[in-house]
Amino acid sequence: MLNKSMSRSRAVLLVGCLLAGVLSACSPSGSDPHPAANGGYLAQQTVDWALHGNNPAETRYSDLDQINQDTVNDLKVAWFADIESRSLRGVEATPIVIDGVMYVSGPWSVVLALDARTGETLWAYDPEVEGATARKACCDVVNRGVAVADGKVLLGALDGRLIALDQQSGSVVWQTQTTDLEKSYTITGAPRVIGDKVIIGNGGGEYGVRGYVTAYDLETGTQVWRFYTVPGNPEDGFESAAMKMAAETWTGEWWKHGGGGTAWDSFAYDPELDLLYVGTGNGSPWNVSVRSPGGGDNLFLSSIVAVRPDTGEYVWHFQTTPEDQWDYTATQHMILADLEIDGAIRKVIMQAPKNGFFYVIDRETGAFISGQNYVPVSWTTGLDPETGRPDILPEARYSAAETQKDTPFLGMPSPGGGHNWHPMSFNPETGLVYFAAMEMPYGYIALDAEDFSYTDKAWNTGEDYARFSMPEDPEIRAQIRSMMKGYLLAWDPVAQKEVWRHPLATPWNGGTLSTAGGLVFQGNGEGYFNAFDAATGKKMWEQQLSSGVVAAPVTYAIGDEQYVSVAIGWGGVLPLNLGEPLKRGVPPAVNRVVTFKLGGEGELPLETAAAFELDPPESIASAEVISAGRTAYHKSCWMCHGDSGVNNSSVPNLRYSRTLGDPEIFNAFVLGGIAEARGMPNFSDNLTPDDAEVIRAYLVRRANDLKNNPEMP
Ligand code: CA
Repeated sequence: MLNKSMSRSRAVLLVGCLLAGVLSACSPSGSDPHPAANGGYLAQQTVDWALHGNNPAETRYSDLDQINQDTVNDLKVAWFADIESRSLRGVEATPIVIDGVMYVSGPWSVVLALDARTGETLWAYDPEVEGATARKACCDVVNRGVAVADGKVLLGALDGRLIALDQQSGSVVWQTQTTDLEKSYTITGAPRVIGDKVIIGNGGGEYGVRGYVTAYDLETGTQVWRFYTVPGNPEDGFESAAMKMAAETWTGEWWKHGGGGTAWDSFAYDPELDLLYVGTGNGSPWNVSVRSPGGGDNLFLSSIVAVRPDTGEYVWHFQTTPEDQWDYTATQHMILADLEIDGAIRKVIMQAPKNGFFYVIDRETGAFISGQNYVPVSWTTGLDPETGRPDILPEARYSAAETQKDTPFLGMPSPGGGHNWHPMSFNPETGLVYFAAMEMPYGYIALDAEDFSYTDKAWNTGEDYARFSMPEDPEIRAQIRSMMKGYLLAWDPVAQKEVWRHPLATPWNGGTLSTAGGLVFQGNGEGYFNAFDAATGKKMWEQQLSSGVVAAPVTYAIGDEQYVSVAIGWGGVLPLNLGEPLKRGVPPAVNRVVTFKLGGEGELPLETAAAFELDPPESIASAEVISAGRTAYHKSCWMCHGDSGVNNSSVPNLRYSRTLGDPEIFNAFVLGGIAEARGMPNFSDNLTPDDAEVIRAYLVRRANDLKNNPEMP
């Protein structure tokens, strides 16, 4: 049997079968949508992967079970399709599969429609996002996927456009600019469709923006409502009572710095309660002495907020990290489930936000049910058992004016989070949640408030770049690296405890998929795609894909065959800005979708990224110049080219750059914008030729450091 119960209505199934040309599946096995064992109306199953999280509850669980613990040995490549864009970058998309067609997005917001049985390209769409937009994107030019509804494919493009494409042809039906192009907003998240509305957020919390979520009419693209996640200038009047309430938790002139709270990834929807859940991001800037100098919780930063999907009206909120100054976003994946807790069935939201705690929240009221740290944490002694409010350690308040220090606060988790955006999955049969967890320290150090400005609209978190980044002493770097870990975690949300973990070679790994076949699928930074026994964590299957994986897999059925598919392209924030602990990660040699089925006969060519020769010029600059270069580099370059010039992504590793020996060529890239179309910004508006020269001198020194000590991280 292909799955335990076909749940799409028979009529829909028939149309799907005919479109896909697979008559064998058109037996009347369809019945009314059935409630899953856990999750009820939220977790209804289909043979497709029609929604971002597979169902409104976003469980990423499928009851397809042809591929199971007994058969997974025979799982082989069915097909692959390359995702072409202007440059190899991270691929974070969850494919959508409907009626035999897969819709997948890639770097630079490109979209492909593929025959989900063969991988044949049906159409391709490139929104032609300007290359300069890359400068506004903190965390790679990625896209986490599209939504498909009403004959349209909905795409949030990196430059802030929401675009509706014709599902059959890929031609543009409508598009609307959802952001102010004068500000550094981007969209990387997947839209969600609720009824006749398309919901989309945005990012920019490191660039001085004010976060919001907007609903657009699915038919026309007209704005229906907008919910701001942080208050604006009180003198302009508040948009809602919720903003007035939120403003009471802020101090100073926060609106001048945007405030942040961007909803850049996660949403979930409960159709019975008719609530849309929004995960919100960090404060902008991180530095509290700039953002809200008199303190305050700063609502709705780092919160889950419930709003009415018809109106955007606020209903409740739960703030995971009051006064966030650590980039502890609560934009992480939210899963809705009905769990038995203390003898009663509770309607809950589960989330493992960046701050290191796994939360179970009542999704009707926003009340705290339970929370437990899933990785070591250094910023709090724990959560109040009644309210879930963290008891923040005084030394963790590194950026509050009265507690600022000359030495960094060693924070765990890091701004990368104990878990980031990588989707989790929930298996109602094991009762476990599976997700990519990571441990790493980070030295937080604040800039004096009077030295802060957002004048260049560039990345600026209010940290002190002169005293920032990992020390360059190889021994200290090796020590810090040894503290960094990544693992696949199986977590019991009721008992709030770890059940098993599978250690991984890098901290940065893929999202997960759970199936009724008793399996958990996950790709990892080393380029392996693995299947585990969901109950025990025993590895049951693996396949090398020739690129690290960050995206989450999906599964679907066509005819009598089940498929598992994953998009590959290692990238995102950590490979860009923290190459060092990711040495065993595999930068992408290709961006592609790889699809598997039992007995598949596809050939997957394994490919290797081009290698470069380390051949720097002699380092002759003075210590003073190197130091100035280090500061300038960490102000403008490190976010994409890596801390201390160490990077392990598809973005050029500058220590190997042949431009280092020639200031004119170096400046053509940095100040002349000759590679802007491929995503290297033109920095002539905020770097002088002198800045560029000291940055070059610093990189020459770093390249020589590596040449003199090849073992150096
Ligand atoms: Ca952030």
